Amino acid sequence: MASVSVEAVRKRYGALEVIHGIDIQIPDGEFVVLVGPSGCGKSTLLRMIAGLEEISGGVIRIGDKVVNEVPSKDRDIAMVFQNYALYPHMTVRENMGFSLKLRKAERGVIAERVKKASQILGLDPYLERYPKQLSGGQRQRVAMGRAIVRNPQVFLFDEPLSNLDAKLRVQMRTEIKALHQQLKTTSIYVTHDQIEAMTMADRIVVMHDGIVEQIGSPLELYERPANLFVAGFIGSPA
Ligand code: ADP
Ligand code: MG
Repeated sequence: MASVSVEAVRKRYGALEVIHGIDIQIPDGEFVVLVGPSGCGKSTLLRMIAGLEEISGGVIRIGDKVVNEVPSKDRDIAMVFQNYALYPHMTVRENMGFSLKLRKAERGVIAERVKKASQILGLDPYLERYPKQLSGGQRQRVAMGRAIVRNPQVFLFDEPLSNLDAKLRVQMRTEIKALHQQLKTTSIYVTHDQIEAMTMADRIVVMHDGIVEQIGSPLELYERPANLFVAGFIGSPA
């Protein structure tokens, strides 16, 4: 596990600045939710933390190390996306082990990590199945399994539940939180759904047009919103 620190981070695409100097300090083991309307810069910020997008200004630290120049593959991070495209020609076991294989991990290590992750996620009975033989929820668990086997310092989630139906979304929220309670891995979770944010977060970061409007616990945001935007956003239906 590691803390994550975002300091005066900016992002420009050509002449257009979309992230205007953001500061967020995330202590070791915290579950932070980035929430805000579509287009406010959540994915861009997450992708900069992952190293999938260059930053145009500021500093990103993981633990006490500045990672601005560190390529994505060398950051100790695992990411779960909305479109988690499993490899269709690989079994669940192979899907979960693949990133470790790419990183030249030993077979025994891969087998052990896959076994542990599949136990945690209840995927044991499905290890020899192919993605098309799984339900939506099971596929989502495999996507999380691929992240867990890496044993990363930090988990990044970008709207991982958006493709699931409402009932499953609620169930998976609970599962992801239970997972966090077990592994205690520092997690940054992006959603545009404020109910998801309120129910899952230790602390919520409310974003709007490339800035942070407020950072606080769900209760703090609910009881003492910093401004009308936060009040309206937290109070509005999903
Ligand atoms: P969110 O995830 O909150 O919906 P994004 O981070 O995807 O928002 O986008 C933030 C802003 O940056 C949007 O205005 C979007 O159009 C713009 N943007 C994102 N990616 C690119 C890109 N590759 N080139 C130009 N503009 C981009
Ligand atoms: Mg996004």
